[in-house]
Amino acid sequence: MADLDTTDVEQVIILGSGVAGLTAAVYTARGNLRPLVIEGGEPGGQLSLTSTVENFPGFPDGIGGLDLIQAIRRQAERFGARYRGGEVTRVDLGVRPFLVELDGSEELRAHSLIIATGARARLLGLEGEDEILGRGLSTCATCDGAFFKGRTVAVVGGGDSAMEDAIYLTRFARQVHVVHRRDRLRASKIMQDRAFQKESIAFHWNRVVESYLRTPDGRLRGLALKGPDGTREELEVDGVFLAIGHIPNTDMLRGQLPADADGYLTPRGVLTDIPGVFVAGDVADRRYQQAATAAGTGCAAAMEAEDYLEAAGLVETAAGAASAR
Ligand code: NAP
Repeated sequence: MADLDTTDVEQVIILGSGVAGLTAAVYTARGNLRPLVIEGGEPGGQLSLTSTVENFPGFPDGIGGLDLIQAIRRQAERFGARYRGGEVTRVDLGVRPFLVELDGSEELRAHSLIIATGARARLLGLEGEDEILGRGLSTCATCDGAFFKGRTVAVVGGGDSAMEDAIYLTRFARQVHVVHRRDRLRASKIMQDRAFQKESIAFHWNRVVESYLRTPDGRLRGLALKGPDGTREELEVDGVFLAIGHIPNTDMLRGQLPADADGYLTPRGVLTDIPGVFVAGDVADRRYQQAATAAGTGCAAAMEAEDYLEAAGLVETAAGAASAR
């Protein structure tokens, strides 16, 4: 393993500024490790795109997604966390200290890394999509479902997530339309059966979403659908939930850590096989993908990083820089 120059080596760099990364920042900052948080392409992560968060413990009246993120950010900053804008374009886990390339040019070094790069919801890629996210279009039923009490919504997708979302949305919505591009679901049989049993779920088979329909003031009002024989129809709904999968943000790692077929990292808890490299949040979580679980693994990864640095004698003291092991 090659050794790099150890001047200006960070004790811990946190990749990602969603709930997982920021919680790791709170803990490592309180541990006096002066973490450097790389904010990434979507500062604040998916939560910053969510209007109101009603299921994060401690906020009985809910809290805006962005407000929550900014509060955790300030909390970590208070204890000495530092932030850098920009995207991590490459990570080299094969050298020590680890190398983190920022925006394809600048190189940063760190004795430990917490990878909390998250996952982004897959979008349809249709025109105007970014503008209506949070204005009728959502990628998180558990976050936004309760806003559609007594309304009509559509779920796009045919996997387990789509079925779970559709079933969950029947608690609130009067009518749930599932729009799927094929004539059969990808979802597991048990999820399919549960969805088929719900009277308020209607299935629209072989339907591809062609465009979003919008009100004059830009709010989503429905979907333009295309059928297999080229027929077109409009589906009027108050809200649309996309459940067409997530894409974990692991490109910068390029196969250096074990991952499943879809790219989700597969650590043991928050531990990887590389001492000093820890994983937190949605980048390794295809199941729960909740702010509360991301905060939990962010906390655990930070505590592991602290223990690692301490045991390796890499904790910087007031007297001077950390000595390499
Ligand atoms: P998924 O299984 O990959 O399903 C994605 C669905 O979206 C598929 O039906 C796919 O259609 C559709 N889709 C993808 N791209 C599309 C596009 N551009 N336009 C229209 N439709 C598109 O993803 P997931 O449902 O998020 O599930 C991910 C994993 O988590 C799975 O392993 C799943 O079993 C698991 N999961 C389990 C549970 C549970 O057990 N309760 C809950 C949630 C998730 P096609 O079918 O035509 O490909």
